[in-house]
Amino acid sequence: MSDATENEGRTGDGTRAVRAGLPEPVKHEPTLPGPVFAAHFHLPGEVTGPYAYGRDDNPTWTLLERAIGELEAPGREDVETLVFASGMAAISSVLFSQLRAGDAVVLPSDGYQVLPLVGAQLEAYGIEVRTAPTGGDAQLELLDGARLLWIESPSNPGLDVCDIRRLTEAAHARGALVAVDNTLATPLGQRPLELGADFSVASGTKQLTGHGDVLLGYVAGRDAEAMTAVRRWRKIVGAISGPMESWLAHRSIATLQLRVDRQNATALTVAEALRQRPEVSDLRYPGLPDDPSHKIATQQMRRYGCVVSFTLPTRERAERFLTSLRLVEDATSFGGVRSTAERRRRWGGDAVPEGFIRMSVGAEDPEDLVADILRALDQSAD
Ligand SMILES: *Cc1c(COP(=O)(O)O)cnc(C)c1O
Repeated sequence: MSDATENEGRTGDGTRAVRAGLPEPVKHEPTLPGPVFAAHFHLPGEVTGPYAYGRDDNPTWTLLERAIGELEAPGREDVETLVFASGMAAISSVLFSQLRAGDAVVLPSDGYQVLPLVGAQLEAYGIEVRTAPTGGDAQLELLDGARLLWIESPSNPGLDVCDIRRLTEAAHARGALVAVDNTLATPLGQRPLELGADFSVASGTKQLTGHGDVLLGYVAGRDAEAMTAVRRWRKIVGAISGPMESWLAHRSIATLQLRVDRQNATALTVAEALRQRPEVSDLRYPGLPDDPSHKIATQQMRRYGCVVSFTLPTRERAERFLTSLRLVEDATSFGGVRSTAERRRRWGGDAVPEGFIRMSVGAEDPEDLVADILRALDQSAD
């Protein structure tokens, strides 16, 4: 390990975020080089690396991959990071490159709403899919004979948390690989590779990039052979991130610590305000000391995310609440600097009540946001 790398491991999150992935300074060149738009690169004679064809590699990806790697696994050089067109492209690349017909995979039953579609596709290819909820480490019971364990912690949208280290040790003892969906936590909130996982996979569309204008995904992994297969999958499927999106993502990562600290602190404030309201039930935020997830979350998370979930008595009440909000847009996705909320059941995918709201807390002033939410709760009352 070089001195520089060791030092990166020791600096604070803000320092690492603003410098993540930057190349050595070059006189008269920008600090973060602009996006490289190229389908192909000059390649006289023999085929040599690193850049030949734009579906395989791109210098703008290289810098972004370095940046994400420095946040997911500071100071470690055995970790490889690959960026993808979206979180789903990243997730699919791990599952479809690692599993074969006859293998068994353990998925969460309460994970991201597209995961069941992936599960059905895996089954169509002859892979056995087993599911259990995230809470209570219920996936532990299904590990015998499994080839891969997929964890989503905290889960979206229910915000349950499982003990990643415990599940990973149990999976490894049975020879299974472990992947963790780290979307909700971001690498500043949780480092799955340090908790023992083989892959940390995420949608960069959410808080990592934080402005609601980019779709992105990534896989960070420490098993070289497994990552070679993930890289091959990206080449085969071609689910690559555009240079412009990659560059926007890298620029956005410079403010990751600022955004995450502000948004997550306000999320706790919002959760505390919602807790006082009689019409709010099943309030979940892993950062609330009395949340069922709090104990495990404090063991493995450094920050608790910007998403709060809760249930209002009826679908109509939830709809009126969303319409009454002025500072919170009714929109899906989460993690952006502008607060959003939605009635999650409208999609049909998640097993949540009709009045279930997933709220993503943005970078607005906390007092303004809390006032808007309390006013909308009053206004939407019967
Ligand atoms: C949004 C999301 C995804 C999918 O990411 P896309 O970038 O939309 O493809 C996967 N997992 C979780 C937990 C998510 O929230």
